[in-house]
Amino acid sequence: MDKSSPKIAIVGAGIIGMTVAKILQENLGKAQISVIANKFHEDTVSYVAAGIFRPGTSFRGPTKEITKKWIVDSWNYWQDILKTTEAPDAGIMSFDSYIFSSDNYHVTRNHLIEDLVPIYRPVEEEELKLVAGDWKYGSYFSTLKIGSERHIPWIEKRFTQNGGKILQRKVDSFASLSDYDLVFNCAGLGAKYLCEDYDLVPIRGQVIKARAPWLRCAFYGDYDTYIVPGLDGVATLGGVRQYDSYNLGVCKYDTAAIMERCCGLLPALKKAEVVDVRVGLRPHRVPTRVEAEAGGGRLVHCYGHGGYGVMCAPGTALHAVRIGLDLLRGKPVSKL
Ligand SMILES: Cc1cc2nc3c(=O)[nH]c(=O)nc-3n(C[C@H](O)[C@H](O)[C@H](O)COP(=O)(O)OP(=O)(O)OC[C@H]3O[C@@H](n4cnc5c(N)ncnc54)[C@H](O)[C@@H]3O)c2cc1C
Repeated sequence: MDKSSPKIAIVGAGIIGMTVAKILQENLGKAQISVIANKFHEDTVSYVAAGIFRPGTSFRGPTKEITKKWIVDSWNYWQDILKTTEAPDAGIMSFDSYIFSSDNYHVTRNHLIEDLVPIYRPVEEEELKLVAGDWKYGSYFSTLKIGSERHIPWIEKRFTQNGGKILQRKVDSFASLSDYDLVFNCAGLGAKYLCEDYDLVPIRGQVIKARAPWLRCAFYGDYDTYIVPGLDGVATLGGVRQYDSYNLGVCKYDTAAIMERCCGLLPALKKAEVVDVRVGLRPHRVPTRVEAEAGGGRLVHCYGHGGYGVMCAPGTALHAVRIGLDLLRGKPVSKL
């Protein structure tokens, strides 16, 4: 290996692979880094996501401490971009959110971010009437979102300008990448086949993109109902979570159910123009896998982020890159 200019491959060009590519390039200016993927942009699940920073309480790393560190590191990373004039080009915006429930107080709480975001508080009685519905419980919180359709091209541009390569091809096995000094597996659901990982399961999701430039705030209701504003005035309306479903086709019954639930919450959406309906398979795994392949070597895994891969891409990518740098330098992998 030419230690001054190692050759590195990242398998996967979704939000995880591209975030690993960015962080790696910032750490190793002279490395020859290639992102290899068979699908890009709208053909990835990353382009389906609403991209909101609100982990489900089921999101887990190998320990509570590591989960928390991934989330805190991610929040700080997004905040650093938000402070710059690059934020709109990078697809990042901050906004306030309401989460309501008519039957379960606990769904309005979130132990993973309540002490992290600037505001997370119970709603006042009159705020329960802000949207249609018979709400009993609610929380108000400030957060941000990352629009992958802006963020991924933003990374790609910098990555290629700084000498990174993006190659289109399917990887059939990691053995076929033996000429690389280090390989990152950011293949999302594709890791199921590359690693024969039976713990990785798709959770099908479907969202509606509707023009609602007047929407400034995100709203969540019961039964996985959410309405999230977008930078381009296009809101994301969701959603569904269908475990172990591989169906990538739009389901008209899901579309109707999402519309009914979202318009039930915000009747003004009845007049919003629908610009797209998208389907994606969340790569669900508990815990999300960020580790070196056992037995030493040169393979680092970073996949299985389920419904939270956009918000948690930086924290997990920083962890994966740290493991990769230890392997490259021949050091034992340090604890996070
Ligand atoms: C409806 C819906 C709503 C969501 N909302 C949110 C949200 O609000 N917030 C949030 O944080 N997350 C959300 N998510 C989850 C988020 O989209 C995912 O966690 C994230 O996009 C996973 O990113 P990834 O890079 O691992 O996978 P992907 O985007 O699927 O990318 C995988 C990449 O690996 C490549 N690949 C796979 N196998 C191979 C192979 N053999 N050879 C070559 N290349 C290969 C693919 O071509 C692709 O480029 C949502 C998901 C859905 C479906």
